[in-house]
Order: sequence, then structure tokens, then C-alpha cells
Amino acid sequence: MAKRTMEEARELDRQDSLKDFREEFYIQPETIYMDGNSLGLMSRRAEQALIGLMDSWKAHGINGWTGGDRPWFYLPEELSAKMAPFVGAKAEEVIVTGSTTSNLHQILATFFRPEGKKTKILADELNFPSDIYAIKSQLELRGLDPELHLVSVKSRDGHLIEEEDIISAMSDEIAVAILPSVLYRSGQVLNMPALTEAAHRHGILIGFDLCHSVGAMEHDLHDWGADFAFWCTYKYLNGGPGSTGGLFIHERHFGAAPGLAGWFGSDKEKQFDMEHDMTAAVHAGAYQVGTPNILSMAPLAGSLELFAEAGLGRLREKSLKLTRFMMDLVDQELDGHGFRVANPREDGRRGGHVYLEHEEAARICSALKAEGVIPDFRAPKGIRLAPAALYNSFEDVYETIRILKKIMDEEAYKKFENKRGIVA
Ligand SMILES: *Cc1c(COP(=O)(O)O)cnc(C)c1O
Repeated sequence: MAKRTMEEARELDRQDSLKDFREEFYIQPETIYMDGNSLGLMSRRAEQALIGLMDSWKAHGINGWTGGDRPWFYLPEELSAKMAPFVGAKAEEVIVTGSTTSNLHQILATFFRPEGKKTKILADELNFPSDIYAIKSQLELRGLDPELHLVSVKSRDGHLIEEEDIISAMSDEIAVAILPSVLYRSGQVLNMPALTEAAHRHGILIGFDLCHSVGAMEHDLHDWGADFAFWCTYKYLNGGPGSTGGLFIHERHFGAAPGLAGWFGSDKEKQFDMEHDMTAAVHAGAYQVGTPNILSMAPLAGSLELFAEAGLGRLREKSLKLTRFMMDLVDQELDGHGFRVANPREDGRRGGHVYLEHEEAARICSALKAEGVIPDFRAPKGIRLAPAALYNSFEDVYETIRILKKIMDEEAYKKFENKRGIVA
């Protein structure tokens, strides 16, 4: 392979048709942000959308629910229509609501119906802890012991989950399968259409956690036939800390009574009739609970515009080039320094970040931060580096690896303790 160089990085940046989007973001001087998969950066559009919302509160008070430029009563549905293309859904199949975890609770409360011998939930042992907590608590609410009723597919190597292992675990005792689209550590993309088809052959409902794929790649949830999906909007979608999450319910399930009911799940025409018998909406909006977190969804109105302009296809193409460039540089520059690239190398199986493992990962991350590079440490020895296609450049990637090499050559990480901070 030809040596990869800074000149090449600059040339790739010159040719990059998405390069102007970087100007839309607040990028701190002297820093290289490689953590867009944990919390995306703030864009000017997101900021303007939030300010606009604050102004409507200032100007209209209560009348902002139905008046002003962006009536709050309809904001979740307005944003859902904009969000639907991100996951390959019809507008009515998506609702911007809740958080990843609360949306998973809603899905299980609604669709997990243990019956006869179909009483188990299938997940994987590398899943994000919050998803597992939600699944276990939902089992416990039905009086089912998680030790017996949570089937957890094992990883062969501690990083990847083989689709064939998931499919082998799809017994006729499984009622629902909950899996990630992209594994949060190794960045492995699961084959969602194949898993959906296999689940349905076994009479299993299947749903995906899209936290690490939404905004990073395209999805076709409707056509794949997935039953449901849920995600956050503060990672690649840059909605801001705690921004409102998303929920997809395939239209074939419309009309299913919400397991966790609340008045914002009502048919909007009927909501203010104030009846004690709920008339639920007949679309994904039925699975909203209380008053929408309007201020936490406002930035999305601006942020989603940027994605619509850039196009997910172009973003994914650039993202794959960025992570390829990074892996090549790791191989070229860091050989002999004890790193292992633990994400899948194939384009089709690789999400939006590179995942390195190193025994000294915690303090290497501290040393990177001291040099202005913001990585994402995952205990005990993972370093996630996410070059975001909307605002990172090839030069950022080159610089990140150059600085990492300097830290290793000079053993600068030894100045730090090898332990994690409270948020890591
Ligand atoms: C980020 C993330 C979460 C976070 O859940 P919240 O309810 O948004 O706090 C859950 N699952 C996965 C896979 C994640 O990556």
C-alpha cells in the first residue's frame, strides 16, 4: 500500500464535496473533535432553531402551542417527517419523543406479550447496558426471571457478534429480539435485513437500537420490515445534550394500544376533549407519553436541515473514507506500539468510528486530550475515534494519528494515571 501522507490528506479535503459543512459548526480552536459519536458538535443552525423556539415562548406564551412560526403542538410530528428519511420509514412510522431507553421501555411495554412458551427476549452480550437494564426490568415487571428469560448471544472474540450466532439463538421461545444496528464499542454493523427476515421466519418481533447508525448511514427500516427501532439524536445527529430521541413503529403495528399510555399519544383532534377513555393516534405518535420536551427537540429542526442538504449517501461515503484513512495511518504509524484495531475492517461491516484497544487506553486518552484531541475512552481499554463526516476533515484524521504517535514515541501518556473519569 502507498504511504499515506499529510499532502494526501489535504488533497482529499480539497476534493471533498462536503467540506463547506464544517463552517456550519462551532469548532474550538486548537482542538480536533473525534467524539461526534458520543455528543455531536453544535451547529449554527441548531443554535438558531433553539433561539427561535425561545423567542416564540417569549412572544406568545401559551399561544405558542398553536401559534407562531413553529407551533409546539405539532413540532414532534413536524420533526418526525424530517427524521423519517434517516431511517427509511414513512413519516407516520416515526415519532420524535423520549430517549433511547424510555423508547425501548415503550416498545417492550407495548409489544412484548409473553404467551405459552414464547416468553423470552433475545439480545446480545455486547449490547449497551441501558438497553439491557430496560429489558431486564420489563421481564421483572411481568414476573419473569431475567436469568431465564433474557437470552444473550455471546461474542466469539469479545468485539463482534456473528449474525449466524444470533440466528441460531432464535428459538420458538423468543418473543422479541432487541439488537443494535452498530455495536457501540467495536462499531460493527449488523445485517439488519437478514436478521429481520430470520426473526420473522421464527415468529419473533425484532427491533433495532440505532444510536450508533442514525445520521452516520442509511437505513431501510420499512422495506426491511423491522417491527420497531429507537435511537438518540445527540450523537451523529448533533441535537445537543439530552436532545429528544426517536421511535419507529412499522405501520403494520399501527393501532396497537400503547403499553405506557399518556395524553400526548392521543389523536390530536381528540386530545383536548379531556375524555378518560383515550383515543390513541393511529400512527407512531400514539407512543408518546406526556408533554413533548420542546426545548430539547428544537435544535434538531436546524440540525436535520444540514443532513438533508448533505445527503446520507454522500456522508456515509465520506465517513468510510475517513475511517479507512485512519486505519491505514494506524497500521503505518503505530506499528509496535501495542494498539489493536478492533473494529471490522470491511466497509460493509464498519460503522462511523474506529475502535482501538490498548492496555494503557485510559491514560493515552488523557494525553490526547492534553494535546487538544478529543477521543472517547471506553473502559477498560478501548479508544473510540469518530471522524464525523459533516465536520471533520482528512487533515483532522492525519493530525490525530500524528499526535497519537508522538504521545507513544515520547511516552507522554505516562504522566497520567491509567484510570477513567466519572463520565467515560
Ligand atoms: C447512547 C446509547 C444509549 C443511551 O440511551 P439514552 O436513553 O439516550 O441515555 C442507549 N443505547 C445505545 C446503544 C447507545 O449508544
